[in-house]
Amino acid sequence: MSHQCEGIVNGGERCVRIISDSERWCFGHHPDRAAERSENAAKAARAKHQGSELSQVKQELRDIAAKVLNGEVSTAKGSVVGQLLGVYLRACETEMKRREQLEFEERLQALEAEQSQERAS
Ligand SMILES: [Zn+2]
Repeated sequence: MSHQCEGIVNGGERCVRIISDSERWCFGHHPDRAAERSENAAKAARAKHQGSELSQVKQELRDIAAKVLNGEVSTAKGSVVGQLLGVYLRACETEMKRREQLEFEERLQALEAEQSQERAS
């Protein structure tokens, strides 16, 4: 047997997600999961922020390249700034990959814990 989640969505309507009888709420409405959800939202916000930082650096690189080409910035300066920004980009990418890996491991552990609980019950 399954039934509808007891949560109320933004518009004041009943949540339409179908859940098992042992549950009263879906993942999105479970009170115990509220902390987890805000943590996820914070993680997403951080990732988004870093993404915008990366695209900003990419934009700067394009600007510098254009300025070197039209003579506004010397080739020496453009070369140094380009190198520095390149190092910065790689550092950001390494950090993002590391974070993704950590999140993946966390998710995997959560899944494994869930599965072993199911087997035990
Ligand atoms: Zn719900």
